[in-house]
Amino acid sequence: MIFNRRAFLGTTAALTATLATPMIVRAQALPRVVVVGGGSGGATAARYIARDGAGAVDVTLIEPQRIYHTCYFGNLYLGGFYDYDDLGHSYSGLASTYGINVVHDWAVGVDRDAQTVTLASGASVPYDRLVLSPGIDFVEDSVPGWSVASQGRMPHAYKGGTQVQQLRAQIEAMPEGGTFAMVAPPNPYRCPPGPYERVSVAHYLRENNPTAKILIADPKETFSKQGLFEDGWERHYPGMITRIGPDFGAANVEVDPEAMTLSIDGVVENVDVCNVIPGQRAGQIAFDADIVDGNWAPVSAYDMASRIDPNIHVLGDAAAQGEMPKSGFSANSQAKVAANAILAALTGSRAFPARYNNTCWSLIDTEDGVKVGATYEASDEGIVSIDSFVSQVDETPETRAETFRESLDWYEAITTDMFV
Ligand code: FAD
Repeated sequence: MIFNRRAFLGTTAALTATLATPMIVRAQALPRVVVVGGGSGGATAARYIARDGAGAVDVTLIEPQRIYHTCYFGNLYLGGFYDYDDLGHSYSGLASTYGINVVHDWAVGVDRDAQTVTLASGASVPYDRLVLSPGIDFVEDSVPGWSVASQGRMPHAYKGGTQVQQLRAQIEAMPEGGTFAMVAPPNPYRCPPGPYERVSVAHYLRENNPTAKILIADPKETFSKQGLFEDGWERHYPGMITRIGPDFGAANVEVDPEAMTLSIDGVVENVDVCNVIPGQRAGQIAFDADIVDGNWAPVSAYDMASRIDPNIHVLGDAAAQGEMPKSGFSANSQAKVAANAILAALTGSRAFPARYNNTCWSLIDTEDGVKVGATYEASDEGIVSIDSFVSQVDETPETRAETFRESLDWYEAITTDMFV
């Protein structure tokens, strides 16, 4: 099932700003909001601030990529349910419809005293409020033997884009009866069910390489939606999938990308594909801004403002916010709270109490969709869950098909909410 979103897309080149001068200062004296990272959190925040503050604020979005490829539904592409091009979204609508100054560059530094962001080009962008939504980077040495330099041999495919295409090409090239291995990440990480939904590559293998095996080495005792996934794997892909947890040595894993081996507690396996999803931390720019505590950037649950610098709001995966999982839906929900708070601070518009939502959908096999979700509110300690729901093992096929259709509608809604 493929969405045709090309109608929304155009070229960005004519519409986005180029950096001709070292200091980017926009003409008027409006309060300036700079957003770093045009993903689930950043694109939503930029759009809502520019839309609801039209004429009252000046919004600049800094994002190196011209097309944002969602991680969500990337597993459906790997499993053969979805086309790669349907994961891509352009920034042209944010520039043309909302007047956002979209700058395609990397932010490489934040001067919190001067309130400026430095770009890789050398330009400097002043801000009154800064929003950081850079997503994740990886914890070095979290999987011995693996480094970013070896991601060509052993892709993580956990940031969207070409890594996902590379993993798909490797799966297609697997020999008959070969082994697809995954090293699952330790908590906390982006999209708790993501690695296990990825096992729906089993769908592709069942159709194209039915004697292939899937081996998951997992350092965690338990994982998101475990009962639902294990039930689904047993029903749809009997005998194909083995998960080894920490009880059987999976906390002691090492890889050799050159030899294409995975060692679990000293037992070496030859594998054909090895998807290493390493330990994670906030995107580097949060460290450069010096607003992290450990691996993540702590924020207030009331407005997503940094607990270290209240002029900086941190959204999505990079934030330590409390109980919300690191997901695209969470980042989108947090962006709306931050946008409302930023506009209230800069323009005197009304501030609403913070409320958040999240649902994570996963597809196990054709039309067999499951979900887990919650609603949340702010507290002094962080974002707290006030209500939750999860799919049940004994649901009917009709319910599962309906859950899958909900996920399609959600994908359309969130990408519209970010880009259109
Ligand atoms: P991102 O969306 O990753 O955006 C970060 C952006 O910042 C990127 O575009 C990057 O280029 C940019 N950036 C980084 N550093 C800089 C810098 N220095 N300067 C400028 N720009 C920078 N979530 C769901 O809700 N539902 C799902 O079904 C789901 N499925 C998933 C499946 C998989 C396999 C994976 C990996 C993730 C999934 N997620 C899902 C999680 C979701 O993708 C992330 O949680 C979400 O994208 C986080 O949003 P973000 O804004 O924090 O980061």
